[in-house]
Amino acid sequence: MNLSKSKYTRFCQCPKMLWLDTYRPELAVQAPALQRRFQEGNEVGDLAMGLLGDFVETTAYTAEGKLDIAAMLKNTQKYIAEGKENICEAAFTKNGCYCAVDILHKTEGGYEIYEVKSSTDIHDVYLWDVAYQRWVLEQSGLKIVHTYIVYINNKYVRQGDIDVHKLFAVKDVSEEILPYYDEVAANTARAKEYIAQKDEPESKLGEQCFAPYECAYWQYCARELPSPNVLDLYRISAKKAFGYIEEGIVTFDDAIKSGISLNTTQWRQVEFELLQLPTHIDRLGIKRFLDTLWYPLYFLDFETFQTCIPMYDGIRPYQQVPFQYSLHYLERDGAKLEHKEFLADENSDPRRAIAERLVADIPTEACVLAYNMSFECTRLKELAETFPDLAEKLLAIRANVRDLLDVFRNGYVYDRAMEGSFSIKKVLPALFPNNPNLDYHNLADVHNGGEATDTYLALRSMEREERDKLRQSLLAYCKLDTMAMVMLWQRLREFCHI
Ligand code: SF4
Repeated sequence: MNLSKSKYTRFCQCPKMLWLDTYRPELAVQAPALQRRFQEGNEVGDLAMGLLGDFVETTAYTAEGKLDIAAMLKNTQKYIAEGKENICEAAFTKNGCYCAVDILHKTEGGYEIYEVKSSTDIHDVYLWDVAYQRWVLEQSGLKIVHTYIVYINNKYVRQGDIDVHKLFAVKDVSEEILPYYDEVAANTARAKEYIAQKDEPESKLGEQCFAPYECAYWQYCARELPSPNVLDLYRISAKKAFGYIEEGIVTFDDAIKSGISLNTTQWRQVEFELLQLPTHIDRLGIKRFLDTLWYPLYFLDFETFQTCIPMYDGIRPYQQVPFQYSLHYLERDGAKLEHKEFLADENSDPRRAIAERLVADIPTEACVLAYNMSFECTRLKELAETFPDLAEKLLAIRANVRDLLDVFRNGYVYDRAMEGSFSIKKVLPALFPNNPNLDYHNLADVHNGGEATDTYLALRSMEREERDKLRQSLLAYCKLDTMAMVMLWQRLREFCHI
């Protein structure tokens, strides 16, 4: 057995990916959120099992805790022979091609395949996947009359127990998979040849390195690309950048010489890099921005989590749920910098508690500075919609939010170390190089928003000592986010000699 549905779809994305999986898996650099996505996918799969009514499940494990494929294949045949209507994880293998169907449903004249996804949209890669399953099952002698994708209905709002019939949407993709189905036989044959080949295959970098999934081998395959290169240009699409690379336009120097069209931000990025220009400071622009702020001045940053399966009533799939904030503030010019913070209890819906603390902590007349304010403003608006009794104050806070990002997005300050990005994680080290107090790498346990989410969601299953330690790490991380804003604001004032 040497091809599975995930191996097949990886081959379809890029044949070399399958080869590296087989011979050089140690070269993969996995995205940090992958483990969480994988776990969430399993939870969604478990929940969907009952979608079509009573079911049997083939899943079996060896004594070492690994999936027992042989037992699953055997269980599947047994359940088919018994005429079971819904078989979950129905396993099949034929000529070295294996797959387990999320739900195999017996119907008039044959079987239906239901493939469950934790996404809110249907992507082409799912069609490759379902086409492969249909092919393997038909090769195994089953008649497949329909194929479906079960995905997440993002309009669903939880009330009480999860209603699987509302959480999931089902789409008949029997017609849509046909072009993909026609390619399965040839693709599986080629994939097996790739797996059998010992020498590393050649492969050109291209859009497939980022879509449908970001490839974990990018650092390895792109090791000879010079840095910076056209892929680093501010907000350039992968399609455009790989098109340039194909034409031999790789470096910033190539970009200038070839006369390709660049927007203002990209021009600035290239110019500063090639001419090694010092930090650009537009004092007039900065002063205009600073003049829009007033005291008391608050610096606000939220941390949020999103889960596919809503954890609490009134929440949609993948809704951003705030669980923590940090606030630095100055009552007046020259006043001592103060700090407040909030981190919700991990065992209940954090929204009411965070909303109550926000309105208690932030005066409605205060100026509130955020970095990329649309995120904070949307959370405040959602909290106001959820808690009408607090809406007036929450919306007053929201109306007073100003965006520190504007200074950098508008080009009032630019340093080539920002590499064309306005993210605070790029701007901060560019304006405060070698400052260990502002270096997220020096924090314990939690270094970015993704880790903050993972840590908060994991707290509930921890022993007290570990939980208390990680709650401190969460507080330290969020506090650095608002401290970073304070430092940037102070640096802007210094630029203007205030
Ligand atoms: S980085 Fe690109 S070329 Fe390399 S294996 Fe991944 S998708 Fe293929």
